[in-house]
Amino acid sequence: MTFSTLGLSEAILRAVSERGYLEPTPIQKQAIPAVLSGGDLLAGAQTGTGKTAGFVLPILHRLSNRTVKGPSEGRPPIRALILVPTRELAAQVEESVREYGKHLKLASMTMIGGVNINPQITRLRSRVDILVATPGRLLDHVQQKTLDLSGIEILVLDEADRMLDMGFIRDIKKILALLPKTRQNLLFSATFSDEIKALADGLLNNPATIEVAKRNATAETISHKVYPVDRDKKRPLLARLVKDHNWHQVLVFTRTKHGANQLAEYLTKNGINSLAIHGNKSQAARTRALSEFKDGSLQVLVATDIAARGIDIAELPHVVNYELPNVPEDYVHRIGRTGRAGQSGEAVSLVCVDELKLLADIERVIKRKIPQEVVPGFEPDRNAKPEPIMKPRGQGRPQNAANRRNPDSRARR
Ligand code: AMP
Repeated sequence: MTFSTLGLSEAILRAVSERGYLEPTPIQKQAIPAVLSGGDLLAGAQTGTGKTAGFVLPILHRLSNRTVKGPSEGRPPIRALILVPTRELAAQVEESVREYGKHLKLASMTMIGGVNINPQITRLRSRVDILVATPGRLLDHVQQKTLDLSGIEILVLDEADRMLDMGFIRDIKKILALLPKTRQNLLFSATFSDEIKALADGLLNNPATIEVAKRNATAETISHKVYPVDRDKKRPLLARLVKDHNWHQVLVFTRTKHGANQLAEYLTKNGINSLAIHGNKSQAARTRALSEFKDGSLQVLVATDIAARGIDIAELPHVVNYELPNVPEDYVHRIGRTGRAGQSGEAVSLVCVDELKLLADIERVIKRKIPQEVVPGFEPDRNAKPEPIMKPRGQGRPQNAANRRNPDSRARR
């Protein structure tokens, strides 16, 4: 099957072919006709499935098919709103909008926190057809009366489960109340908790439903490996693995922001070019780290789960769990960054005695036993006693979906 049978305009097909896509992914095959038909959509899909193009392409088609004029004075209204959980994802989605829409006359904008609001206010004075936003900053604009959402025809909630995890439900409800009643709604979510179902029930009108396989959990293209090691030998082991295997473009996950900083410093001191990204870094620092990582000049990017969410790098070859996540589903999300769209990838975990229970939970969720390899010189002490795992700062209770808080939420907008 090719893209040309899906009903997209020639200008969009040209951009897709220039991007090098040969055929639509399963989610695209189903989502594109569904969105083109104008109805609501509930799609179960996570990053790595090609879901972004699955909604961006048909939105571009629908908007460019029918142009809208503004009042005699002033600009046309914003017609599509794409809400996403993180700043990085917003930047990536908007980049896709620009790329796939490069032969069209539609204008897009990213609206995210962590950067000065004034340039956004200035930008809003000129034409914006498609707005890609994180909820917190969007509401700041609403409050300052710099944003008019009364012309929205299409709403997308991307990674809706993550938005709820990050505590955005109230913000989302406030935003929904500002939109025109008649509109097309698209909801994308990797998981379907009761909370997501309730949100979908209230939002969607007789939606088409699409579910694509959780490719992360089943992807044969990803090879998993566990390196058992003592907790205080993790850093030298990681440096050794990166050097011995000559790994490049390694995305390393740590549990805490502080841990991310320390590890990046350690690796850099040991001759491995590394940077950390997390919610406490300025937007400029995060953008710089990401772009250096993308273009290959940065060897290792150390990230916390939330900062890494939605990082979209084609053919990311190595993901390292420097520490296992507290929630097994996060393992699936993390390794979702490797082996994208059919590429092969390697997911490596450094596991100390404290984490054996987490490892067992993960193996249960991914339904497979992960092969283990002990590196000579890093044999774990058989008599070591497990210690409780330190929670990320500010999280008294064990980490779970409900108390993970978002870098973009109220306090830090
Ligand atoms: P997403 O799930 O939207 O984050 O996309 C995951 C990755 O797949 C991105 O790097 C896309 O550029 C890539 N991709 C999306 N659609 C296709 C396609 N039809 N063929 C090949 N790669 C694709």
